[in-house]
Parts: sequence; C-alpha cells; structure tokens
Amino acid sequence: MRVSPNIERLRPSATIAVSTLARRLKAEGRDIIDLSAGQPDFDTPAWIAEGGIQGIRSGGTRYTPTPGLVELRKAIACYHQPESASELTWEGVVVSSGAKQSIFNACFCLFGPGDEVLMGAPYWTSYPEIIALARAEPVPVAGPESNGFKLDPEALDAAVTDRTRGLLFSSPSNPSGAVYSSDELAAVAAWARERGIWLISDEIYQRIHFGPGIAASLLSLPAETLGPNVVVNGASKSYAMTGWRIGFSYSDPVLAQKMTALQSHVTSNAATPSQLAALAAYGDPERTNAVVDEMVCAFRRRRDLAVGLFGELLPAVHFVPPAGAFYLYFRVDAAFGDGLSSAGDVCTAILEEEGAAIVPGEAFGDSRYARLSFATSDELLEDGIRRIARWMQPRLG
Ligand code: PMP
Ligand code: GLU
Repeated sequence: MRVSPNIERLRPSATIAVSTLARRLKAEGRDIIDLSAGQPDFDTPAWIAEGGIQGIRSGGTRYTPTPGLVELRKAIACYHQPESASELTWEGVVVSSGAKQSIFNACFCLFGPGDEVLMGAPYWTSYPEIIALARAEPVPVAGPESNGFKLDPEALDAAVTDRTRGLLFSSPSNPSGAVYSSDELAAVAAWARERGIWLISDEIYQRIHFGPGIAASLLSLPAETLGPNVVVNGASKSYAMTGWRIGFSYSDPVLAQKMTALQSHVTSNAATPSQLAALAAYGDPERTNAVVDEMVCAFRRRRDLAVGLFGELLPAVHFVPPAGAFYLYFRVDAAFGDGLSSAGDVCTAILEEEGAAIVPGEAFGDSRYARLSFATSDELLEDGIRRIARWMQPRLG
C-alpha cells in the first residue's frame, strides 16, 4: 500500500508491541511473566474512579473546552503550586488524552523540517517517532553511563548544532529510572536557556521517586533561570490511571493556545468522564498524595527486591540504579554469542525459552540493554527475575 510520506518512517510503539505479544502468548495458554508493561498494576483508587462515574451520572458526557474543564486546569495548577518556584497560571495548562499527546502537541507546534531535536538517551520509545512526525530530526544524546546517562553540558555541547531547536528528556527516566537532582536539572536548563533551545521536560513519573519528596521539576527552578520550556505530566502513572488517558502540558499561555488549536483539530477535549475523575484526584491533593505515597512504598519495595535479586543472581550484570519510575535497565550484551547479537535477540530467547517478557533496549536506542518493569506483584517480579537469571547466568562467560 502506498502511504503518505508523513508516516513513511513511522514504526509502531515497541513497548506496546512487547506487552501485546506477552498478552497474546498468555491467552494461548503459555506460562508468561510479563515484566514489559509500563503501567502500575494497581487499580485506580476507588474514590478517583467514582469522580468519573458520578460525572457520567450527572451529565458529564458532553464536550468540554478543548484544553479541558477550567476547574480541572485550575486544580492542576493548584496541585503543582507547592513545588513551583513561580505562580502557576491555569491558562498555561492544556489537558490532553495522555502525556503522549501533550508531547506530540508540543513537538508538532514547535518543530518542523530542518530542525534537530535532542533527546536524552536512552530515550522513551515514542520520542523519535513523535519528533519525526513533526518532520524534524531526532538526535539522541547521552550523558555518562556511570551517571545513569544523565545529560550534562559537555554531552549536550558535543551534540548541539546550529539547527538544534529543542531538547526532550524525562526525569525520572523511562527506561533508565535515573532521576536528575535539582542541580543537574538546573545545569541542563541553563544550557538550553543560553542557546534559546526549547526544553521539553517529561515529568510523567515525577511522583514515583524513591528519594525524599518528589523528583525535582523544571517548575521548581526560578523562572529567570529558565528559557522557553514545556513541562509534561499527567495522571497515568502517579494515580494508576493509564486507561483514563489524561495528561497535560504546562507552558507559556501563548504556546498553550497554539497547542489547543492543534488539539482542537485532532481529538478535541480529553474524554469528559476522565477529566472528572482527574478532577477528583487533582482537586484533593491531601488524599491523592496519601495514595501516591502508598503506591510509591510498594514500588520502592519492589525496586529493592529487584536490585537485591540482581545482586544475588547476576552480580556481574551492570544496571542503572533506579531512583524513580518503575523500571530496571540492565545490560544484556555479556550474554551475546551463539547467534545472538542484540538485546532484541536476547529478549526473544528469554521470552521463548523462559517465558519472561522484557523490552529490548533497541526500543530506547541502545541494543546492549533491556528493560524490565517492576510495576507488578512481588511474587511475579521474583519469578520473572529468576527466569531471566536462569537464562543469562550460564551465558555470562
Ligand atoms: N512519557 C513517558 C516517559 C512514558 O513512559 C509514558 C508512558 N506511557 C508517557 C510519556 C505517556 O503517558 P500517557 O500514558 O499519559 O500518554
Ligand atoms: N510508557 C509505557 C512504556 O514505556 C507504556 C507503553 C507506551 O505507551 O509506550 O512501556
């Protein structure tokens, strides 16, 4: 079939592809432990879900303004105010159908042919595709492996050209779990500001942080230290609401209007019942933060379990110590050989021979690594890691 040049280079989401395959094999009766899915295994807290259900019952079934209900935009701005250095304005909030759409909105509105957009590598699998959909050029850039690949001015200096117009990265990072300290974030922000480069900070895992408090946000830096920027966040990961599809961007209201115009022709408003559920969450920060703390406690325990099991079963395998999100990003290249020469080969073999589903690093731009998600029960996580170790251990020279 002849398709438009718009999608000539487009590849389907690799993370979604692995989860879909794992689900299919399970449905066929195979014994599969799925450590691929990038979503909390918890149900949406009942009172948040109730906000959506009550919303439907009381007529919340019609269009809302494209950038979302004003009450929700105000609630989001209020919710994030305590960690922000400046007064947040609700007109800067554009509610979308997931953080993914907010990243798309930002990239499509800001970048175009001839532009290069740096992506913190390893990068989330959708970044290069979204940048390419805007007809700009995605350019991976990584900081030192010994520092969880976090970007620093030296790494950025080596990648910048006179065509660089943007920098897109996530902290806490998917897939590495690395989290930028406030100083590290400030260094990246200063670097971008000095060059007038748009900084898109994907903070969807902000609340899932294993250190004290929440992860540093671009919003927490003084306004005068920031150049042009967009902060992306949402309800999916923190409140176990992946299926509700609620994300948002925070930016200068002028850009917010441009993104609203784009969204008005693509999806209009995010689903109204989902906005009403999100309003329950953002509108009651105390209650919401309490359930987030409980979930983060569970993720922290599983992080410790995963790290402990790797230390015990695969002590020679290097991984990035996860400080946030719910992924363990570990090297698999020591197991190459016998016809296996990439993470894709290794992950396929582990899935076929041991029934453990993990995502190959090719999805994130590095075929030496694989990613497992520890957003699953302790029992499944332990079983899955034991399977991975059983496969890898004899192959580690
Ligand atoms: N950014 C990152 C780094 C992610 O891992 C995800 C996961 N899906 C998203 C954005 C998109 O989130 P959402 O489900 O809200 O679209
Ligand atoms: N972001 C998650 C992941 O990386 C969910 C799947 C997706 O949207 O790519 O696995």
